[in-house]
Amino acid sequence: MHALNLVAAATILSALPLALAVRHWRAPRMAAPRAARQARLRAGGCLCEAVRYEVRGPMRAVVYCHCSQCRRHTGHVMAATAARKAHFVLTRHADLRWFALSAHARRGFCGACGSTLFWDELSSAVINIAAGSVDPPTGLREHSHIFVGSKADYYRPERALPQAVGDDAGPPEEEWDP
Ligand SMILES: [Zn+2]
Ligand SMILES: [Zn+2]
Repeated sequence: MHALNLVAAATILSALPLALAVRHWRAPRMAAPRAARQARLRAGGCLCEAVRYEVRGPMRAVVYCHCSQCRRHTGHVMAATAARKAHFVLTRHADLRWFALSAHARRGFCGACGSTLFWDELSSAVINIAAGSVDPPTGLREHSHIFVGSKADYYRPERALPQAVGDDAGPPEEEWDP
């Protein structure tokens, strides 16, 4: 009896590593589609399509920069995603212009239509890309607000405003400030 019990126990124990092996074997197969999503090809460009780019790699979650330089350059706030420069290719760029306020960074825009496109810190392996220039569906997520201390006085990032599908939530005439 005792010997039989040992055999039964041995059978259960020998089956256990097999079950674990099956689970380990399955795990990489389940992870594969996720790796494929990260390697997706994204493209984007300016309003008139004179500047176009492709990104063959992951793109960073979107950061909203409220600094005074981004405000002037974009007309409001720079919503920026980013890509590794090694994954970034300009596929059309004859009208791409660069403006540098300092020696360490430059801002890219379309010289034909004026669209804000890039913020490029020259020493960085990453280029910041205007999120609105990425072709939809972007598959990108929001991350954070930065330089909120420098924001303009006409808005609060945390404030919920009236929303409309069209322009029917626009302000009436009395909403002009003196
Ligand atoms: Zn353009
Ligand atoms: Zn900024």
